[in-house]
Amino acid sequence: MNRTTTPGAIAAAALLLVGGLVLAREDDGIVAPAAGATIGPEARFVFDAPPGARTTIFLMDQVELARFSGPGRHELTRRLSQPGRRQFNVKVYDAAGGLVRHARRDVVVRGGDLVPPAARGPIRPHRGRTGVVRLNERTAVMLANARRWLEAHGGCPPGRAAPAWVLQGSYSRSVSASAGTHDGGGALDLSVAGLAPAQRERLVRALREAGFAAWLRRAPTFSIDHVHAIAVGDPDLPAAARAQVRDYFQGRDGLKGRRRDPHGGPVVKAWMRPFLQREGLSGALGRLGA
Ligand SMILES: [Zn+2]
Repeated sequence: MNRTTTPGAIAAAALLLVGGLVLAREDDGIVAPAAGATIGPEARFVFDAPPGARTTIFLMDQVELARFSGPGRHELTRRLSQPGRRQFNVKVYDAAGGLVRHARRDVVVRGGDLVPPAARGPIRPHRGRTGVVRLNERTAVMLANARRWLEAHGGCPPGRAAPAWVLQGSYSRSVSASAGTHDGGGALDLSVAGLAPAQRERLVRALREAGFAAWLRRAPTFSIDHVHAIAVGDPDLPAAARAQVRDYFQGRDGLKGRRRDPHGGPVVKAWMRPFLQREGLSGALGRLGA
């Protein structure tokens, strides 16, 4: 399959035709997703099955998404959920069920934004590093996006961006050193135990790419080294966390004294534009580039 991605676009799904007159000109009739489409936006795939086709199966990353019988226009709409590295497969079978052609292609999707859901979603318990932690769905998806960023870009084991490594979640008043930043939604602390300094930096970067205001916090100022992260735009942010988000976009560290951000300044994404304008932080939009 020689279809390649245009910058910022996710490539199309693979097609598998079973039985009858098998045709697999892979690009035919496939409508590629919009540039930048990742989580949230819908991608549409259309295939005009030839008169002799018996079954059309849509595959993405080895997973069957839909199956249609007979000729005609077959269309699939799906929310893309795996930006980063993807594998596409095209398998063509003859009428007897024998595999006559198999093509595989790895594609690295560049420039895709990891866009969080618009809605907060339900608050759910997760098994954290030392006990049960609570995260709302938007925050949990953003954490998964940080993992995907690490899967695509490396530098730190992707599994470190996961609820299992969360030391303190959201809706939590148990840790006084957190100064109220975890009282509402959008907050989490990630363990950095066993990670080298460069890996810790990479974890901070991944969380920022996913839309968190995130900093490495160190002992002895804090009881344990960890990454403190606040989800930008979370509707449940308490005042203390909102103040930290402001600090983040102003290139500060979010602590008393408002020192310079030690991680090189905020990562600004297009989806943050309405939030930044609403909060009077439009100055940060200058970091958007285009
Ligand atoms: Zn924290």
